[in-house]
Amino acid sequence: CLCSLALSHSSSFLPFLARLSVLPSFGFLFDIDGVLVRGKTPIPAARTAFQKLVDSQGQFLVPVVFVTNAGNCLRQKKADQLSHLLGISQDQVMMSHSPLRMFKHYHEKCVLVSGQGPLLDIAQDLGFCQPITIDTLREKRPLLDAVDHDRRPNVLVSGAVVLFGEPVRWETSLQLIIDVLLTSGYPGNPYEQESYPHIPVLACNMDLMWVAEAQSPRFGHGTFMVCLENIYKKITGKELKYEALMGKPSRLTYQYAEHLIRAQALQRSWEQPIQTLYAVGDNVMTDVYGANLYDRYLRASCGAGCVPRAQPAPGPRGRPAFHGHRDFGFDPALVEPDHIVPDVDAAVDLVFRLENFAPH
Ligand SMILES: [Mg+2]
Repeated sequence: CLCSLALSHSSSFLPFLARLSVLPSFGFLFDIDGVLVRGKTPIPAARTAFQKLVDSQGQFLVPVVFVTNAGNCLRQKKADQLSHLLGISQDQVMMSHSPLRMFKHYHEKCVLVSGQGPLLDIAQDLGFCQPITIDTLREKRPLLDAVDHDRRPNVLVSGAVVLFGEPVRWETSLQLIIDVLLTSGYPGNPYEQESYPHIPVLACNMDLMWVAEAQSPRFGHGTFMVCLENIYKKITGKELKYEALMGKPSRLTYQYAEHLIRAQALQRSWEQPIQTLYAVGDNVMTDVYGANLYDRYLRASCGAGCVPRAQPAPGPRGRPAFHGHRDFGFDPALVEPDHIVPDVDAAVDLVFRLENFAPH
């Protein structure tokens, strides 16, 4: 089984006896925030690490994908954020919303998008042809037109509600999303009893909190989702259902990241099959949990051929309270990383050693 190869390497340190590889049979999934940058500030070890990952022309020696749960900006903005470290293409950046590209059956429909930043640009970049924002919905002022039924807004949301990231003015977004869900997409109409199951909800980035420059973690999109789920349940007595949840630790995200890694290897004509994925992150509940969950999935579906390994850069250790999403059961075994290293530079060194990789 391909799955155990990386593990057996890890127990034998034989750099001079082993055959050194010049072509990669592995790939990296790097978390961004907390591993490469902290807020807008670069982490020094990232620069050293990146020098090892590229050749003298700046070309990557290994397939690399940057996987972030951020969702309120375009891929290019994240790529630009890393440009002080390294020139990377937007094709190497995976946002929490990136897997929405695969949901083509919603692309032609009118979808309500929630979040902040350039929401319409993000939606259109992902393939959505008819996105409508909370602000636009609010500007339609459905209540003012509610007396004259003929002037009530027509169907505004026929396809789905897409939650990209935490919005500003949560009360407005919560109110209007609830309106859309309880009226089957006709937010100008009164609530209906028969609006269940509600129209599909697709959500990106389940992080309850995230680390920025502040001393303590900040509310993330997961906190907004907790509010939405609880309000929906309080009003209807029923569970809010998600058509899809994406962003780490969801399987969808790792599947998409694997697809990007393989696409890079193919583009570079690296003939060795990619056998191992190394996930480097600082959050045990997202980076480590997600990598281990996907590892378990690959082992169960036997023969898929890729084994993600979780390696946190420094971060709080121990067993924190479960901050994962409602729909993800908590398995303590999945928060244990395979390796713990001081920083991303040490992670790169370790992986090169485990893989006997010597590109130079
Ligand atoms: Mg992080």
